[in-house]
Amino acid sequence: MNVLLVFAHPEPQSLNAALRNVAVQALEAQGHEVLVSDLYAQGWKAQIDRADFPALPPERRLKVPSVSGEAFTAGALTMDVKAEQEKLLWADVLLLQFPLWWFSMPAVLKGWVERVYSYGFAYGIGRHDDTRWGDRYGEGRLAGKKAMLIVTTGGWHEHYSARGINGPMEELLFPIHHGILYYPGYDVLPPFILYKADRLDKEGFNQAAKRLRLRMRTLGTTAAIPYRRQNDGDYLIPTMQLRPGLEHPGASGFALHLKSDEAREAEELLLAKVQDAETVGSS
Ligand code: FAD
Repeated sequence: MNVLLVFAHPEPQSLNAALRNVAVQALEAQGHEVLVSDLYAQGWKAQIDRADFPALPPERRLKVPSVSGEAFTAGALTMDVKAEQEKLLWADVLLLQFPLWWFSMPAVLKGWVERVYSYGFAYGIGRHDDTRWGDRYGEGRLAGKKAMLIVTTGGWHEHYSARGINGPMEELLFPIHHGILYYPGYDVLPPFILYKADRLDKEGFNQAAKRLRLRMRTLGTTAAIPYRRQNDGDYLIPTMQLRPGLEHPGASGFALHLKSDEAREAEELLLAKVQDAETVGSS
């Protein structure tokens, strides 16, 4: 498989960099081809602005979606953005690796998404009318590919559990999993999470590396989070609300968008297994 790892940490000697090397070595050892986009090392420009559209006449208002779509169609996006889009098309698997900063991804990675996911590439795909709302959430340009997060946190596993003060990790990651990865079509694998990363000792690192190697070896066989597809009939169009009666009893919020009781239970079990294993690795 072709694997793209997008890496967002400013320090080459960091724990994240050491884990990235473990992941890359494990993937290459299996014969996969790996590309790394090291955003800080590349000096990635995080903000989307006028400089992203050199062909835009100065008097024209910068309306990002339409201008981005025109530039994509005309092949007039900047070289750095085009190169990342090429890598995404090349990769069968996308890995996004980052330390959890303020409950989300570092700004440089969010900026990578904003700039690389141009209109016509990652959104604005397919027919949009009163009976169809485009190709997204399970369909789209990147459908058929897999994606997975590799995340380290200062907080403990318990802090991110169902009753933990930080909120459940699967809910904090929902905007990335569902909104950024599933939206343009990726099948989203359960994340690799290393909790309590700031307190990691050598033994903890070795355990975490072992877990990460295992996740890299099982990329091809790990079941994806069973999100509902937009165009499989579960949603009313154009309000895009889940049809009444389809929800898991008692489910609300993000959990509504998981396919079925069985699928939801399978996902919870899978996440719990992965997280337990990783907690052992970090304690
Ligand atoms: P590093 O600082 O590089 O290393 C962490 C530890 O790993 C060190 O003690 C190091 O000695 C050890 N280590 C063991 N083996 C190795 C090895 N081989 N190589 C390198 N190091 C090793 N946490 C949260 O839970 N929620 C938040 O919302 C949150 N927000 C944050 C916001 C900011 C701006 C910052 C700076 C931190 C935040 N944190 C948060 C904490 C953050 O998630 C952790 O600091 C981060 O995940 C640790 O990863 P690192 O790669 O930076 O670790």
